[in-house]
Amino acid sequence: MSDSSLSPLLSARVLGLAQLGLIVLDANHHIVMWNQWMASRSGRSAHRVLGQDLFDLYGELRGQRLEQAVHSAMQSNLPQQLSPALNPSPFPLYPAGSWGGERVEQAVSVTPFSEGKERYCLIEVSDISTIVNRERQLRSQAEQLRAQSYVDGLTGIANRRHFDVALDRELRRASRHDGQLSLLLMDIDSFKAYNDHFGHQQGDACLTLVAEAFAATLQRPADLAARYGGEEFGAVLPDTSAEQAALVAESIRAKIAALAITHAPAAARPHVTMSIGVATFDKDTLADAAAMLAAADSCLYAAKKAGRDCVIVHRPQADAA
Ligand code: GH3
Ligand code: MG
Ligand code: MG
Repeated sequence: MSDSSLSPLLSARVLGLAQLGLIVLDANHHIVMWNQWMASRSGRSAHRVLGQDLFDLYGELRGQRLEQAVHSAMQSNLPQQLSPALNPSPFPLYPAGSWGGERVEQAVSVTPFSEGKERYCLIEVSDISTIVNRERQLRSQAEQLRAQSYVDGLTGIANRRHFDVALDRELRRASRHDGQLSLLLMDIDSFKAYNDHFGHQQGDACLTLVAEAFAATLQRPADLAARYGGEEFGAVLPDTSAEQAALVAESIRAKIAALAITHAPAAARPHVTMSIGVATFDKDTLADAAAMLAAADSCLYAAKKAGRDCVIVHRPQADAA
């Protein structure tokens, strides 16, 4: 019959097979155990490090979170965990067999224990590089998918990409059929003051409210309401003359003002408002997206200069005069 506990030889073998780093320190931080995993990733064998002060061996750990965790564990007798986000690679460890390159990303925990009168702490180090890399990959894939999508992640209305595609498509249609097409560019007034006063999170909530109200104002199925950028919005209005577009713009302006969202004290008005620039397709002067956008943008700029909370419509004849 074999004994039910492992022999010291077998215990040492198991420690050598473990797929994580195991370090034991005594009360003076001297290393009393250093397993094979640590040796193969640090390039330092157990017989070179045993008896040394861990923080002499790795001076870079002095004053860092790990040293604090060892102190706290020893004093409070409570286990400590290092946040991998804040301490991604405390030890200079590299994938086994490759000296140099990127350090492996580590999850580190510190557990105090006593043996008789002696106090020790066990430091466990796991290599989480694969998990971290997979997370990074998933995050970047999600970002790519979002970029490829047509919906703005914050407000749920169409995004800039959708806006560009729709404007391009409607411009080609208007050119072919000599049709009418209008474009609105709008920008929330003094929004920086709103964010500065209420915080970015409430700023985001305000953007969403404004976007929903703006999108709900557009009546025709072919109209497109989009978030053009930060706190700027755009609308593509097919079969819409400059006069009709001016009315739509005015109803959007009035609707946003009527939401009566309290503005920051630093803003000129008590409620959140929007300035709007309007441009209409013209086969001679405003025949491509860049020209239409530039015209709408300069009207928007003029609306800001005119005191904000107003609509300014591009007039090709007036420009030519
Ligand atoms: P103006 O009336 O001239 O447009 O003044 P403004 O303060 O709105 O203009 P400015 O372009 O200086 O500032 C726009 C601000 O919009 C900057 C940024 O704080 C805020 N912003 C842009 N995108 C976002 C967003 O996605 N969320 C939040 N909360 N704020 C945003
Ligand atoms: Mg802006
Ligand atoms: Mg603004």
